[in-house]
Amino acid sequence: MLPLEAHVLGSSAARPYLDRGTSSLFVQAGGNRVLIDCGEGTQLEIERQGLSAAKVDVVCITHMHGDHLYGLPGLLGSLALGQRTKPLTLIGPKELELYLAQTFKFSEAHLTFPLSFVELDFDMPVRDVVILRDLKIHTIPLIHRIPACGYVVEQTSKGLPLKDGVIDEYRIPYQKIESIKAGEDFVNKKGVKIPNSKLTNAEHNPTPLAYLTDTSPLSRYPEGWCPPSVLFHDATFSAEDEALARKTGHSTVLGAAAFAKTCNAEELFLTHISVRYADREVLLQEAKTAFAKTRLA
Ligand SMILES: [Zn+2]
Ligand SMILES: [Zn+2]
Repeated sequence: MLPLEAHVLGSSAARPYLDRGTSSLFVQAGGNRVLIDCGEGTQLEIERQGLSAAKVDVVCITHMHGDHLYGLPGLLGSLALGQRTKPLTLIGPKELELYLAQTFKFSEAHLTFPLSFVELDFDMPVRDVVILRDLKIHTIPLIHRIPACGYVVEQTSKGLPLKDGVIDEYRIPYQKIESIKAGEDFVNKKGVKIPNSKLTNAEHNPTPLAYLTDTSPLSRYPEGWCPPSVLFHDATFSAEDEALARKTGHSTVLGAAAFAKTCNAEELFLTHISVRYADREVLLQEAKTAFAKTRLA
């Protein structure tokens, strides 16, 4: 299974600063690229990190707050200037389509590529909202001041990998390969059954990445979903500002750590940290008391 790669483009809450842009995460595996949130300054950070906006297949927007969204019209405009023709899928609240249409109308901008919109479901977790060749995208409703959804991105399964040399050894016809990769046994021309375990290796587990911001800590992770290898979680406030977190629909670092335990995450990245904390290292240490494998996004 292809490795999942994530690049943090912005992790600041509310507004961009010289050292940290607003929310955005670039995820890629194989030939597919997904951008989650697109705060102001996202396209500059894509350039700085040597990534390619032109190759993005899907942009996922968590909610309509500006610090997650204001970079999107500019990014799409730049893609049009670059004469992009490849279609782009947008996942987001239904207002997203109108927001972009009005922005482009009043600024007389014209896109050179088709946009397709997928509306978020704020009532329940949804799997396979978009399936690409190498990546698939699921959504989870969040708890925020306005409707918001988090995203889980994982590698698309290519089926069980065949063991070396089995095609020649057992004279497996091309048409049978797909069913064997799906776990079926193979029956040869003489009627002899070759068990699947002789033909395939165990599949590597997917390593899902979950991106949950902006949100109060959720009480549970969707049942039956593979736990995230990497969890990016809202950590706007320190533990002592719990009341503020609750009031604004955000999480403290301890709330983020608690949810990392709830969902059995392997590793937690604190994101959307408020600029009110001059020393983010203090917040990191606070989170580590509850969840050791924590890092700053
Ligand atoms: Zn925000
Ligand atoms: Zn927000």
